[in-house]
Amino acid sequence: MKVTQIRENFLKFFESKGHQVVSSSPVVPGDDPTLLFTNAGMNQFKDVFLGFDKRPYTRATTAQKCIRAGGKHNDLDNVGYTARHHTFFEMLGNFSFGDYFKRDAISYAWELLTTVYKLPADKLWVTVYAEDDEAYDIWAKEVGVPTERIIRIGDNKGARYASDNFWMMGDTGPCGPCTEIFYDHGEDIPGGPPGSPEEDGDRYIEIWNNVFMQFNRDEDGVMHPLPKPSVDTGMGLERIAAVLQHVHSNYEIDLFVNLLAAAKSAVDGAGAGNCDANSPSLKVIADHIRACSFTVTDGVIPGNAGRGYVLRRITRRAIRHGYKLGARAPFFHKLVSALVKEMGDAYPELKANEARVTEVLKQEEERFFQTISNGMEILEAALAGSSKVIDGETAFKLHDTFGFPLDLTADVCRERGVTVDEAGFEVAMNRQRDQARAAGKFKMAQGLEYAGAPTVFHGYDTLNQESAKVLALYVD
Ligand code: ATP
Ligand code: MG
Ligand code: MG
Ligand code: MG
Repeated sequence: MKVTQIRENFLKFFESKGHQVVSSSPVVPGDDPTLLFTNAGMNQFKDVFLGFDKRPYTRATTAQKCIRAGGKHNDLDNVGYTARHHTFFEMLGNFSFGDYFKRDAISYAWELLTTVYKLPADKLWVTVYAEDDEAYDIWAKEVGVPTERIIRIGDNKGARYASDNFWMMGDTGPCGPCTEIFYDHGEDIPGGPPGSPEEDGDRYIEIWNNVFMQFNRDEDGVMHPLPKPSVDTGMGLERIAAVLQHVHSNYEIDLFVNLLAAAKSAVDGAGAGNCDANSPSLKVIADHIRACSFTVTDGVIPGNAGRGYVLRRITRRAIRHGYKLGARAPFFHKLVSALVKEMGDAYPELKANEARVTEVLKQEEERFFQTISNGMEILEAALAGSSKVIDGETAFKLHDTFGFPLDLTADVCRERGVTVDEAGFEVAMNRQRDQARAAGKFKMAQGLEYAGAPTVFHGYDTLNQESAKVLALYVD
């Protein structure tokens, strides 16, 4: 079953259960300062869950374009390292706005997986929130999942990979306990069941999260009950496609096989000659072309702040991976047409913007190719030293003079088991900012033309601390 068919079957199934099929919202959220990018299917329904907005339907289903490359849900550093994470992915979802609750949500999910998609029931594991006896009993007594494969899990805040059965959209907003469905890819793959110490592996892959939306979390962490208990679910299209196509990694599904081939040919044509078709760098490139193309399509352009800076960081990481494989000239923008072939029918806006997206990425690429060689030389020289840490001054110089975002430098270092002194980087950054400010004041005092103080950025005050800190670094 091809990706296109899997997406369609999902939407049709929920349509047959009385759900309104709703289009994906853009990856740039319309009017939500708490969100950098759309990170889940429920984002466009946030106000419906909160009771501020009413729709003519109480059940909806979507295939939603999502980006997890900043903010609370950030998978940028997982790409290329796990079989299941992307920066851009599609989330299939069904939603109940005060209509059905746990029982129907669970039985719909089970029916779709075992009768429409025909997955063997004995490969499916489920987790429930530790205190959620109701969900536990529905799985055990009504659906009939053997209790050895139902695991109770609490909130694992902060753990990078560990399961977490209390879902939150961000630090504030709708949230609630959830139940998740995992697929066992078989004993050849390392990893343990959810909740076990070996969970880090990729054997048991989480495919579907069913969230029982019950609370609105405020800035102080207080949970206010929602007007009506609701349901929000999310299943990664690429992950269910991997299961249905009998492959382990998302990168082996039809859509990615084609994108990877396009990536290899573009990189080879730009100077690599004949790069290793299995290199993780090609996966990173194939992943990033989706994130970059959809972000530009939805109105972002590369820049030095906010979303534009996230886009720049992702683009430059992709370029650096091509460079690592041997590309010495722009190649990345050439993948846009391959992507349009794969996804342009499902997302016509991508097709409509093909020429513009290609041009925007090409310009960004040309710009970075002017400095990447010199920057890489400096970084290589630093890495050749015996230290396990790259000092903050070097990282800052790479950033300031050669256009290497900090996370790009860290990405290179991670491949060598080296870390970056981020505190030292910040010190260097602040020093430069202070100097720029002082220079601005000095000119004012002299009565010279005002050279302009650095911009103060207020746009993301309400973002969580981590992303606010990261964004603040790049504002000037
Ligand atoms: P994981 O634990 O694997 O990181 P998650 O618990 O963060 O996933 P949820 O927030 O529960 O994911 O999102 C719902 C579903 O979306 C997941 O069950 C998964 O199928 C899919 N998904 C989440 N993150 C990604 C990603 N980065 N790439 C592809 N699919 C994803
Ligand atoms: Mg995650
Ligand atoms: Mg998870
Ligand atoms: Mg989850």
